[in-house]
Amino acid sequence: MSARILDGKAVAREIREELRGDVEKLTQQGVTPGLGVLLVGDDPASRSYVTAKEKACAEIGIYSEEVRLPATASRQEILDVVEGFNREPRIHGILVQLPLPDAAMEEEVIAAILPEKDVDGFHPSSIGKMMLGLPTFLPCTPHGILHLLKRSGISARGKHVVVVGRSNIVGRPLANLLSLKNELGNATVTLCHTGTPDIGAFTRQADIVVAAAGRPNTVTAEMVAEGAVVIDVGVNRVEDPTAPRGYRLVGDVDFNALREKVSAITPVPGGVGPMTIAMLLYNTVRSAEKHAGVQ
Ligand code: NAP
Repeated sequence: MSARILDGKAVAREIREELRGDVEKLTQQGVTPGLGVLLVGDDPASRSYVTAKEKACAEIGIYSEEVRLPATASRQEILDVVEGFNREPRIHGILVQLPLPDAAMEEEVIAAILPEKDVDGFHPSSIGKMMLGLPTFLPCTPHGILHLLKRSGISARGKHVVVVGRSNIVGRPLANLLSLKNELGNATVTLCHTGTPDIGAFTRQADIVVAAAGRPNTVTAEMVAEGAVVIDVGVNRVEDPTAPRGYRLVGDVDFNALREKVSAITPVPGGVGPMTIAMLLYNTVRSAEKHAGVQ
C-alpha cells in the first residue's frame, strides 16, 4: 500500500482563498486586518518563518508591521513593543516569534499581549478558554492539524489518537482539542513524551499518530499499525552536502518507510507547516471582524 499524501499546501491555499474574500469585505467596510510582528534576534529559522507569515498576509490583503529587535534587547524594550501593538488600532493580531533569545522572558511577554489580539493563541487566557471549550483563538499548529484532518475527510471522532510530544504550543493543546466533545474532537487521546518508557506500545494501537517531538525518526514503521493516519509536525534540519543550502528539512517520522504501511501521511515540508500559517491568518481575520462588529 502506498499512503495518500495529505497535502497541507493545497488545503492551506484553499483556506487562504476563503480568507481573501473575508479580507475584501472587511476592507470595503474600512477595516484592513493588521498583524503586528515582533522578531527578536537573528535566528535564521525564525527569520524565515516570519518572512513566510508576512508574505502570506500580503497575498490576501492583511497589513503587517514588523518590529525587529537585537538579541540583546531588554525585557522592557520587548514589552514596550508589545504594548505599542496592544494600543495600535490598526493592529488586530500580535505575533511574537518564538523562541525568544532569552526563553525565560517568554511567559511574561506572552502574558503582556492583549487576549483579544492573541492570534497565536498562547496567552494563558486563550489556553484556559480552549481547555474549557469556550470560543477563543486556538493555537495555530494544533488548529491547523484539526482543519487538515477535517478537509481531508478524516474524522478523529471515536478514534484513538496518540500524540508524541507535550509542548505547550503543539502536543498538549492538540491533545486537549482532540478530547473536547465537539465536531473536530471526540477522540480518545494518549499523550506520550520522554517519560513514556515504550512509545511504540501506544502508537501501535493508534488510528491516528501525531509526531511533535522535534527529533528525526521518533516514529518508525514498526511503531505504527497498518492503515494508520500519520501527522508529522516535526521540522528538523539535517546535514546534506548535496542540498543547495547544505541541509534539508525532515519531519519526526521515517516518511519513506511509513508511506508503504499507513493509509495517509503528511509530508515535510508541505504538510502541517502551511496549515499553521493559514490558521494565523484565519485568527487575524476573525479578530479584525470582531473589531469591526462583523459576526
Ligand atoms: P518542543 O517544545 O521541543 O517539545 C518537544 C516535545 O517532544 C517535548 O514534550 C519532549 O518531551 C518530546 N520529545 C522529545 N523527544 C522525544 C522522544 N524521543 N520521544 C518522545 N517524546 C519526545 O517542540 P515543539 O515546539 O512542540 O515542536 C515539535 C516539533 O514540531 C519541532 O520539530 C518543531 O520545529 C516542529 N513545529 C512545527 C510547526 C509547524 O508549523 N510545522 C509548528 C511548531 C513546531 P519532554 O517534555 O519530556 O522534554
